[in-house]
Amino acid sequence: MNASRSPATRRDDAPGVTLLEIRGLRIEGQSEEAWHEIVKGIDLTLRRGEVLGLIGESGAGKSTIGLAAMGYARPGCRITAGTIRFDGTDLAQASEADRRQLWGSRIAYVAQSAAASFNRTVGSLLGAPDASSGYVFPVGGGPGVVSVAHTHHDYPAADIAAPLGEPAYALANSVVQRSWSTPDPRCGIGLTLQAYDGQVWTYCHLAVLDPAVTPGAVLSAGQQVGLVGATGDATGPHLHLQLQPATSYPQEEPWFQGFAGTAFSWQDDEPTPGAPQPMAQPIRGLAAVHQGPVFRVVPAAPTAVVLFSR
Ligand SMILES: [Zn+2]
Repeated sequence: MNASRSPATRRDDAPGVTLLEIRGLRIEGQSEEAWHEIVKGIDLTLRRGEVLGLIGESGAGKSTIGLAAMGYARPGCRITAGTIRFDGTDLAQASEADRRQLWGSRIAYVAQSAAASFNRTVGSLLGAPDASSGYVFPVGGGPGVVSVAHTHHDYPAADIAAPLGEPAYALANSVVQRSWSTPDPRCGIGLTLQAYDGQVWTYCHLAVLDPAVTPGAVLSAGQQVGLVGATGDATGPHLHLQLQPATSYPQEEPWFQGFAGTAFSWQDDEPTPGAPQPMAQPIRGLAAVHQGPVFRVVPAAPTAVVLFSR
């Protein structure tokens, strides 16, 4: 491949230019300890500005092909043959790091979501997430009902108080690392996701986890991940949000503070100056899976994102 065609330097915005080209794609799925071919050699071409629909019955492999278009095979599946060329890069051959750079910034999977089709109250709609440097506030409902303190009782984390059943959102384009719908004694129902900037976030105490939130699922900023609850060790409904490892307060992130007054209210008006910061303490049982930087500049909203609705 010519270096000038790498995604970092090549951005041909002319309509009609081929953006995605799949040739001879074969995918196997594992069942009963054996591998079976479930996608048997497909070709497709998507030009910039086009919308491409895949039609097939449930289980025909539409989602599997959509995920493979990002160079991703969900657990229990593997890509066995073919090329997946996105804007000059063969995602079937690209490194994991190169693929993760594209995910969420230039190519994304928007999963069909059961929770997103719940009826919404007016309050929730008013509290819908706003993009701020690529991040959205992770709890809906608005500043009239959603509140948080600058600090936490225990270690760097945010206890975001909200009424039971308010929507919880993916706070950035991200990939789910873990999720658990059986309540953990401390964290309750929750998930850990890695945002596209490398930071890893854990959510706790959900009432309901959206069924689409499974390890490996790619989430869009603002996609609903569940409902605020009080499962696990919680005295009332709230979203416990923390970085993994919990080395700094989410409330100190510029994007978080940018939502004050529009998505939430401060419980304490001013931060406590010089307050002692207790030792970082990750939740027991939740491994610190990524040692990324605590702060990183979040790039501006991406262009030319390919979306798959299913
Ligand atoms: Zn907490």
